[in-house]
Amino acid sequence: MSRIFLSSPDVGPLEREALLRAFDSGWVAPAGPELEAFENDIAAITGWPGAVAMSSGTAALHLALLGHGVQPGDRVLVSSFTFAATANAVAYCGAEPTFIDSDTVTWNMSPQLLADELADSRRHNRLPTAVVVVDLYGQCADYDPIVAQCHELGIPVVEDAAEALGATYKGRPAGTLADTGVFSFNGNKIITTSGGGMFVSHDVEASNRVRNLATQARRPAVHYEHTEIGYNYRLSNLLAAMGRAQLQRLPVMSARRLQINARYRELLGDLPGVSFMPIAPWGGWNGWLTCVVFDDVATRDAVQHALDENDIESRPLWKPMHLQPVFASCRARVDGTSEYLFDHGLCLPSGSVLSDDQIDLVAKVALETAR
Ligand SMILES: *Cc1c(COP(=O)(O)O)cnc(C)c1O
Repeated sequence: MSRIFLSSPDVGPLEREALLRAFDSGWVAPAGPELEAFENDIAAITGWPGAVAMSSGTAALHLALLGHGVQPGDRVLVSSFTFAATANAVAYCGAEPTFIDSDTVTWNMSPQLLADELADSRRHNRLPTAVVVVDLYGQCADYDPIVAQCHELGIPVVEDAAEALGATYKGRPAGTLADTGVFSFNGNKIITTSGGGMFVSHDVEASNRVRNLATQARRPAVHYEHTEIGYNYRLSNLLAAMGRAQLQRLPVMSARRLQINARYRELLGDLPGVSFMPIAPWGGWNGWLTCVVFDDVATRDAVQHALDENDIESRPLWKPMHLQPVFASCRARVDGTSEYLFDHGLCLPSGSVLSDDQIDLVAKVALETAR
């Protein structure tokens, strides 16, 4: 049997046809009708009029921060428990990330630790220029208290919803819970264009500015006039066509991931010393990855090893940014939550392409090892 991956792309005839249709149309470029239509499709899902398709989620984060005026030497508060791209985007601006630890309710940025850091920043007269909040593993952070305290100080908030397309918070869609939002369509995300991302905003002016920055900041003139440094960050029209096909299937793919999670809970739920990622009552989780936490680190390591021996991919939860060598000199407000999760947690294969038999095999290996 072939290797069971954590989250492989779920693509088929619909995506293939869309790709070929775009190819045959002649729009083989980072411009074209599919690109515009993909942006409109995302705008329809989020209810926000501004949407800009980008070459990656990281690029979208970078321009979101520039759009909020982040400059070299500035400070930006960032969730520590995340993939490196979130913090890298801050570094691209020449700004310095300060890492905020997670709460135990959703594993996302703790509103309390954020409040502590903001109070401290105020006392020292060094308020951050922006705050980036991550929606981890497809579940939204607790935005009401986070956004309220940031807005009270006039600080814009970026929602890194790279993993959270289709999730909701109190009935509102992920991506629209702060001032600007970012999605990723990388190969392992809930929908994919092989690589790609999207910037979203309620403010059409702001999104037009980001679109301009993403196309080398060309001013309207036949000879391409430039008054500032731009980037080459647009998504290809071909990939946008594929994104539209994936978006049509998002509800089905998300439902399948949730079904897989339910199956894991059924099969592993009674195992002593094992728990699942908590799902907060306000949320509509999209099911992106099933994450389990083992009380005993040695058991976690043994399960990971046993899965690998059986040609099954699993991975520890994200290594917190404040523990990453590259960010070792950055300030961090942490209380051990994300460090504990990194030490004890494991992501299990969760892709919507996986069959029930494959999930049962993963669970069987985990059970036999952990028992
Ligand atoms: C995947 C991911 C990104 C980056 O998206 P890319 O499209 O891979 O550049 C950013 N933040 C988080 C939390 C992610 O999981």
